[in-house]
Amino acid sequence: MSKSADIVIIGGGVIGLSCAFYIARDLYNGQAQGKVIIIEKEPVTGAGATGKNAGGIRAQFSSPENIIFSLRSIEAFESFEEETGSPLVFQQCGYLFLQSTQDQVDSFEKQATLQRSLGVDVEFLAPDEIKKLAPALKVDDLIRGNFFSRDGIADPGDIAMGYYNAVKRLGVEVMTDTTVTGLTMSGDSVTAVQTSRESVQCQNVINAAGPFAAEIAKMAGYDLQVIPVKRQIVVTGPLDYINDEFPMVVDVSTGVYFHKETPGLLMGWADPKTKPGYDESTDDDYTDEILMRTLERLPRLEDAEIGAAWGGLYETTPDHRAIIGKAPGINGLIFVNGFSGHGLMHAPAAGMVIADIISGATPRFDITDFSPERFAKGALIHETNII
Ligand SMILES: Cc1cc2nc3c(=O)[nH]c(=O)nc-3n(C[C@H](O)[C@H](O)[C@H](O)COP(=O)(O)OP(=O)(O)OC[C@H]3O[C@@H](n4cnc5c(N)ncnc54)[C@H](O)[C@@H]3O)c2cc1C
Repeated sequence: MSKSADIVIIGGGVIGLSCAFYIARDLYNGQAQGKVIIIEKEPVTGAGATGKNAGGIRAQFSSPENIIFSLRSIEAFESFEEETGSPLVFQQCGYLFLQSTQDQVDSFEKQATLQRSLGVDVEFLAPDEIKKLAPALKVDDLIRGNFFSRDGIADPGDIAMGYYNAVKRLGVEVMTDTTVTGLTMSGDSVTAVQTSRESVQCQNVINAAGPFAAEIAKMAGYDLQVIPVKRQIVVTGPLDYINDEFPMVVDVSTGVYFHKETPGLLMGWADPKTKPGYDESTDDDYTDEILMRTLERLPRLEDAEIGAAWGGLYETTPDHRAIIGKAPGINGLIFVNGFSGHGLMHAPAAGMVIADIISGATPRFDITDFSPERFAKGALIHETNII
């Protein structure tokens, strides 16, 4: 059996859904029936990295492209209901990067200069101001914190569901429980997507397979530099000392991050010892390490009851920047991959530029530094503010 579409999007995570939304709304004016198909191997959309993530949204990055992507995406989250028709609680509690060495202060000061030049009004908070904002934090070893009040957190499930409901209304077909098994090539062009159910003839394929993106690229003979690696999260039971204004805290010295997750706290950390791979199992030593690191900054956590812990896959690139654009040397294949832990917060802007690429327009934001060609050219500029 076979069917056809103009555009097939492989992957029904937040990135594939956002791409489908902007394409269906802006290019097909809501008449996308039969033209745009999302293919997702799981029984539901949003069950991959999207369903495992911490919900953090921030503009405090070290590179202009990431900052611009974030600012445009923050605007989209601020008007999410207007855009998609679904409500979203975007708690703009701010991100607070805590610094306890002079090197960290120098590095965050440099980043703040760039961020401010692009419209991110970062504040430098002294330890007593940090204590006022989040009284439960230990601040005696801190020099200062960088804080941007429009950063915040949102429920990844609500974002994915909002896009899903919108794309269904706009006429996008979503094939769940369907695994992409191959790409049909005619010379250098992709002409169809083979799946566990049927093949789909198409003109354009968008690779939005998250941590599995390199496997999809390989089906067209392309070596895509997206590496899956496990990251873990721990959530506590109720904590009455985490106030409503409690920000997303990133302790730069220990690398741990945590935010209010009603009724308690959500914590995460990138263990540098974790080997690349598809293993997502929850590891007790990893959980303990997250708790120990958080405890250093939040001593009252000692009595907390642990609610849940889980693992999920980051989709990392060698320079921790996304890979967005047409696949070099392959017609009809487009990458929107490798968000390196920032795919939720960058999903709106990513969807917008993919709609531009499909329509043949110049992308509305400069995506030169996300170019798939940069690896072959050796032109890597690393994003340093990664979590
Ligand atoms: C623990 C953790 C915390 C994170 N915290 C944050 C955060 O605070 N903020 C933030 O912005 N980002 C965060 N991230 C990163 C974020 O979750 C990802 O960048 C984002 O979800 C990527 O979205 P995606 O749609 O590309 O990938 P996914 O959500 O993984 O979607 C890809 C989809 O492709 C499907 N697929 C794969 N192969 C095939 C195939 N062969 N056939 C059909 N379907 C296929 C998968 O089933 C999956 O549903 C975090 C990630 C993790 C793991």
